[in-house]
Amino acid sequence: MKNLPHVLDGVAIASEIKAEVAREVADLSVRGIRPGLAVILVGEVPASQIYVRSKVKTCGELGIYSEMLTPPESITTEEMLALVADLNARDDIDGILIQLPLPKHVDTKRLLEAVSPDKDVDGFHPVNAGRLASGLPALVPCTPLGCVMLAKTVHASLAGLEAVVIGRSNIVGKPVTQLLLAENATVTITHSKTRDLPAVCRRADLLVAAIGRPEMVRADWIKPGATVIDVGINRVPGQNGKSKLVGDVAFAECAEVAGAITPVPGGVGPMTIACLMVNTVRAACAIAGLPPPGV
Ligand code: NAP
Repeated sequence: MKNLPHVLDGVAIASEIKAEVAREVADLSVRGIRPGLAVILVGEVPASQIYVRSKVKTCGELGIYSEMLTPPESITTEEMLALVADLNARDDIDGILIQLPLPKHVDTKRLLEAVSPDKDVDGFHPVNAGRLASGLPALVPCTPLGCVMLAKTVHASLAGLEAVVIGRSNIVGKPVTQLLLAENATVTITHSKTRDLPAVCRRADLLVAAIGRPEMVRADWIKPGATVIDVGINRVPGQNGKSKLVGDVAFAECAEVAGAITPVPGGVGPMTIACLMVNTVRAACAIAGLPPPGV
């Protein structure tokens, strides 16, 4: 009989990280500092509302000040820019998050570039992307940070590991590649034009799937014993007319081959919010001229 793989419990690992963040927040309060996060949610996209509420609730649990701004769907790019400029200037706000996607008439690129890089807790500003790529301290995107933290719960060191990333988006694929490189993994980044993707994936000691295609990664893509991090969140038809969430990895069959694997839901997802809290505290420390926190 095959050994059962280690299913990585993102909820439990995220809880440990949040507990550490809460300790950092308590230490900062002794110095009279309270990290603050502003979240801008435009319009009424139900999925975005759920994500934002959960972020604000987590701030409250950890002692982080939070503020939710909910401009109407009709807001213009200029009005959004004014909102961001106001938050950039405020002393009680250390992190600014613009919940995506924005309505089509709003210029997302201009807005992300308007957020002060010091308060860019999503790590999407080109200055932070450039700093990360240059190996300089940066605020890095939360989901990739969570992926690397999960991998490090399995491997004491990622140095020398053969890592393959599927997907090259600015929010997941590229930053996770940079973070793995910074950990001294040997990284291959793949995408829709990659030839013989299954063969490339079979080389991986560490496979990160960020594709947005339900259960595309199959068991015969996985090197026996590999660590598999599934970033995908895909809603597909389930039983009794209901829908369900699946990842980019066919979990049941890949779990038979992998050494460690993240489930969906309950893997990378919870880590994303925990890492947003980490980034907010990191931003607050940097703005206050303090050394980076331990977490
Ligand atoms: P994205 O911007 O759509 O990028 C998808 C990437 O996958 C692209 O680079 C694309 O290649 C590649 N791809 C698509 N089809 C492919 C194929 N058949 N073979 C190989 N590569 C293929 O998506 P994203 O924003 O990175 O998100 C990816 C997934 O992660 C989604 O399911 C999303 O919902 C999920 N996600 C989860 C979290 C979380 O908190 N857990 C956070 C963010 C995203 P090309 O560049 O060649 O088109």
